[in-house]
Amino acid sequence: MTELNQQTTYDDNNIFAKMLDGDIPYHKVYEDDKTFAFMDIMPQAEGHVLVIPKQKAVDLADLEPEYAAAVLMTSKKVMQAQRQVFEREGVIQMQLNGSQAGQTVFHYHVHLIPSSIHELGRHAVTQADSNDLANIAQKLAAVIDA
Ligand code: AMP
Repeated sequence: MTELNQQTTYDDNNIFAKMLDGDIPYHKVYEDDKTFAFMDIMPQAEGHVLVIPKQKAVDLADLEPEYAAAVLMTSKKVMQAQRQVFEREGVIQMQLNGSQAGQTVFHYHVHLIPSSIHELGRHAVTQADSNDLANIAQKLAAVIDA
């Protein structure tokens, strides 16, 4: 049997944990007591947002029901804001479990990407301009707050 290079235990030093601790910069879109949403730094399309739970979950297998529900509700808010800001209906909801699936950050997260499955850019390859990300984050946050 092939051995998988699979991370199953939560690493407190993963990049999203550091974000939740305020140790590295981010472009915040939304936050509540159970979730946090921010711009993906290497977007697969303009407006690519990540939603994470404030729970130490590596992937879907670890996610507690209350956090699963909270992530989904925040994802709805973000998607509605993306539809409004980018004036498009199509938004991809994506989530990778395990390195074999292509997961690169081992804190559970949902990708919300205003794109089509037929036009999606490459995963985590090209870093976006920080000012552009800040600008989009501000627009999305304003719509969610309204
Ligand atoms: P995944 O491969 O599904 O685990 O997705 C991880 C995502 O995190 C990728 O889309 C990366 O572009 C994104 N990412 C990595 N580092 C950062 C960071 N510092 N800030 C925002 N997004 C990040």
